Amino acid sequence: MEKSGVKGLSLARRLYTSRTLGLALGLLCVAAAMYPLDPPHWVWALMLFNGLVWPHVAYQWARRRKIPYHAEQRNLLVDAFLGGFWVAAMQFNPLPSAATISMMAMNNVAIGGLRFLLAGTAAQILGLGVGLLIFAPAFVPETSQLQLYASLPLLCLYPLALGWICFRQAHTLGQHKRELLALSRTDSLTGLLNHGAWKDQLELEFQRCRRQGKGGAIALIDIDHFKAINDTYGHVAGDIVLRQLSKMLRQNLRVTDLAGRYGGDEFCVILPDLPLSSAAAAMDVLRDRFAKLGHEQEPALRVSLSIGLAALNPTHTDAILWLNDADQALYEAKTTGRNRVICSNDSRSEWELLDSV
Ligand code: GH3
Ligand code: MG
Repeated sequence: MEKSGVKGLSLARRLYTSRTLGLALGLLCVAAAMYPLDPPHWVWALMLFNGLVWPHVAYQWARRRKIPYHAEQRNLLVDAFLGGFWVAAMQFNPLPSAATISMMAMNNVAIGGLRFLLAGTAAQILGLGVGLLIFAPAFVPETSQLQLYASLPLLCLYPLALGWICFRQAHTLGQHKRELLALSRTDSLTGLLNHGAWKDQLELEFQRCRRQGKGGAIALIDIDHFKAINDTYGHVAGDIVLRQLSKMLRQNLRVTDLAGRYGGDEFCVILPDLPLSSAAAAMDVLRDRFAKLGHEQEPALRVSLSIGLAALNPTHTDAILWLNDADQALYEAKTTGRNRVICSNDSRSEWELLDSV
């Protein structure tokens, strides 16, 4: 998870781009409105500072702060305050004033929703008040043609830029959401589905098989005497064995099969649309290959798998009953000597029998 400081920094970067563009275009708009009013030199200096220098100062200020987000909140209030100030200085010239106020409102809503809009409006009113105190209150009722054209870049380009920045942000958030969802469904050690995600898939497959009247099998796979492997070779070696089994599962299963890590040294597989005999054959190949692989890599290392298989049958009114049958079969594999594949006793009633139900 991102630290709040880092998050604030990305906000500061986004605001730097939009502020640099918005205030440069705003300078054009305000300068055209101020020119006929012949303001004193300090007002021109402040205008240039606000339009050209302030975005860089604001960015540097934010990125040097421990929590850039808080600095940016203050920066946005400064933006709004100066916006209100320029509206009073322009003597409420209609188009430049409306452009200034609406672009800032749009910016505040885009960045911080209603809260920022309200805070920004309050800062704008304050800036307006200070402007009215400094410049005598007056009203310019008409916008000249030159002032209209000088306002157009701000009105046309700034919404485009802000829209683009918001779109990029939404796109990135969507990507992060997908990545987080994938992470929350993945077992970090093996990269297979984790317990919860596999159970979700089991429920879906159970419903699908019943709806379509198709068969399927589930397998519960447990490494024999895994604790002894950990105790003898260490947990790192144990982890390697777990990863090797998951790799083997990926390599030996069909793309439609769904493998997960049930927990600890226990794995689980859904084998949709497969008769029990074929599922048992596939699991026996896996058991055999895994035992050989362990022996090839470390002759003293004895690894074997116990596998319990259960075919979907009409007595399975929910997915848990199906899973229980596989669990029973695994228990039988463990108690009858390990290193074997056992099919659930109910294998007699494969899904094909459903046709007669
Ligand atoms: P059995 O043949 O009856 O299955 O015996 P077992 O030793 O495999 O069964 P048990 O459930 O007693 O042991 C499972 C062990 O798996 C215990 C636990 O320390 C270990 N384990 C669980 N998760 C991990 C893991 O992520 N990495 C490693 N290295 N070991 C793990
Ligand atoms: Mg075990």
